[in-house]
Amino acid sequence: MTKVLLLGAGYGNMALLTTINKDLFSQAEFTLINNTPYHYKTIALHDVASGKHDRSVLFPLQEILDDRINIIQDTIVSIDSEKVQGKNASYEYDYLVVGLGFSSDSFGIPGVGVYTQSITSYESAKNIYKNIEEKLQMYLKDKDSNNLAFIVCGGGFTGIEFAGSLAQEVKKQCDDRGIDFNLVKIYCIEAMPRILPMFSENLMQLGLRRLRELGVIVLTDSKILECKMGGVVIEKGGKQETIQANSIIWTAGVKGNEVIANSSFFKSGRSKVEVSAWLQPINQENNMDNIFVIGDCSALKDEQTGRFYPPTAQLSQQQGEYLAQTLETLLYAAQKQENLQRDLIPQFKFQLRGSVCSIGSGYAIGMAGTKEVQGFVANMLKWFIESKWNYKLGGFQSVFKSD
Ligand code: FAD
Repeated sequence: MTKVLLLGAGYGNMALLTTINKDLFSQAEFTLINNTPYHYKTIALHDVASGKHDRSVLFPLQEILDDRINIIQDTIVSIDSEKVQGKNASYEYDYLVVGLGFSSDSFGIPGVGVYTQSITSYESAKNIYKNIEEKLQMYLKDKDSNNLAFIVCGGGFTGIEFAGSLAQEVKKQCDDRGIDFNLVKIYCIEAMPRILPMFSENLMQLGLRRLRELGVIVLTDSKILECKMGGVVIEKGGKQETIQANSIIWTAGVKGNEVIANSSFFKSGRSKVEVSAWLQPINQENNMDNIFVIGDCSALKDEQTGRFYPPTAQLSQQQGEYLAQTLETLLYAAQKQENLQRDLIPQFKFQLRGSVCSIGSGYAIGMAGTKEVQGFVANMLKWFIESKWNYKLGGFQSVFKSD
């Protein structure tokens, strides 16, 4: 039987497995390897890190996927031409789909790996929440104001969603513990002159206003030079200063999964493999006709702009759905022993449907197609996007999933 090996239960591979013709699960051997027994909704991890949500972002793979899919829990270490090496075993494949997602990028700034936490998985998000609780608890004992200070490094999508959620959740926690929220300092530090570079000036100003209402101190034009124990050194207006806090959360940059960089088989940059419009690696030394790379560990150029698409769940999902069709075509052709010309397979085309950034409960800003949306409407749109994914994975009962 043809072996189809899928690495990573993220948006890309989950979209693939829930879209592909189910008959193929009897006709080829589908194996999914993931380092956890569940899929987590990465786009909601900022709410896990703040403590707003917990297990509602998890979908146990055994419960939601077809029984005929072989689900293996293992951590992939490297990828080679004929096999994939995991911590527990090695795995052979006829077709390989790599969808291992992202890892945090420190850009070489000293101290990031040691003194900061980042939102890269469900577990890492839970650890951030545990740390927040610990620091509030410690404040009650030692009255150290640095235990009430939180620094979010980066004013991009993730940083802003997290800062908004954090402000609301820390306020609730302070109220429960009898801590005056006015003593809490939540900083969001951004090197560029403005936050949320993907949105218009108008949307950005709305986002900024909302953050300030929630009590977030936004520092733009502030280059982070170093993260250290008890704070972050920044350069602002030609001067250096230290912002003090005992909790530092790094959201300033992501790259592809480090498995890519650790696999000499691939030629890659920032742990990403550049792919063609068929989602196959390009500019490689080895033959990769049977390999596809999707989601955050791939880099796909937008032919119209010549720039790479930003990594988003939306892009990963569409790539997974597209690849379901491609695999169907390839597997049926193999069954009929047809010699399929690859050029006959349609190319992947990304359709930007919109993008919504939530800033605390009940408020969001973003784009619906080409229209700017804000407030309640944008928030409903965000809810709809997330619910649609819940429905795709677990049916109607998953739409109103709770913690
Ligand atoms: P992922 O969904 O990241 O999944 C990768 C999978 O691989 C995971 O299951 C992981 O456990 C597994 N894995 C990783 N390493 C290994 C290994 N070595 N061995 C085995 N398994 C492994 N995008 C949007 O479009 N809209 C948003 O609103 C949005 N909000 C975001 C908010 C936050 C807080 C974050 C962090 C990201 C957000 N994004 C958003 C980006 C989006 O989440 C990613 O682009 C998307 O998750 C990438 O999907 P993927 O399929 O590449 O992999």
